[in-house]
Amino acid sequence: MPELAEVETVKEVLKGKILGKTIAKVKVYWPNIIEYPEVKTFEQELIGETIHDMKRRGKWILFELNHYYLLSHLRMEGKYFFRTPKDPIVKHEHVVFTFIDQTEMRYHDTRKFGKMHLIEKEQIDSIGPLLELGYEPWDENLTISYLKNKYKTKHLPIKTVLLDQTIIVGIGNIYADEVLFLSKINPVTRCCDLTKKDLGAIIENTKIVLEKAIAAGGTTIRTYMASEGVHGKFVNNLNVHGRENEPCPICGTLITKTKVGGRGTYFCVECQKR
Ligand SMILES: [Zn+2]
Repeated sequence: MPELAEVETVKEVLKGKILGKTIAKVKVYWPNIIEYPEVKTFEQELIGETIHDMKRRGKWILFELNHYYLLSHLRMEGKYFFRTPKDPIVKHEHVVFTFIDQTEMRYHDTRKFGKMHLIEKEQIDSIGPLLELGYEPWDENLTISYLKNKYKTKHLPIKTVLLDQTIIVGIGNIYADEVLFLSKINPVTRCCDLTKKDLGAIIENTKIVLEKAIAAGGTTIRTYMASEGVHGKFVNNLNVHGRENEPCPICGTLITKTKVGGRGTYFCVECQKR
């Protein structure tokens, strides 16, 4: 599953390639990718729409068009390729956007879990998947009192609740471990037991971890290769995640791996005491 920074990278690469282009034709080869509206309507309504801007909300990529937002979620394996109408359609290319300049953007997804919605601009605040999303890490509404209020009745481990996209968006399994390490919080601590200081640390460190990851994604944008498709995968410099039995960068204790809520979880038993 791409994490927030990877989605941000994909959005930025797409922006550099398709801004200002107008759609001449859309062909959907795997209808289940299109969640809303019906496939025929989806294909017809996109004709003549120009891509004016590219945005991101949580892990959704938003194509801002004349009358619509096209929302794309890559889920596990979704990526975009750039082709021309002369190139044969290959396996796993499920949605093909042909622009009036005779270039093509093709949505490719080996697992077919990705989703798209086409939503009228004036309806973006009343229907669709964005309504369920919590605050972005940089939203000024993401405060200690907001988190305290959300967490006070939750007895689940903080590691599990950090992944809940209806509270804060963009923290995946990897980032959750990194945020808790920097915040010196044990991953199994119950949410309702966290102090104000802990919550403040979570907010600050979420921003730090994600900003660092997005900066690493910037390197990917510069080295982007068309042959690989736009997927945004890149190597992160991580403190604990994936580093079982390696020394903790702060105290040297070997990093422990465990499972919290069914997810592989890495932490330092010394720095993140219960
Ligand atoms: Zn440590």
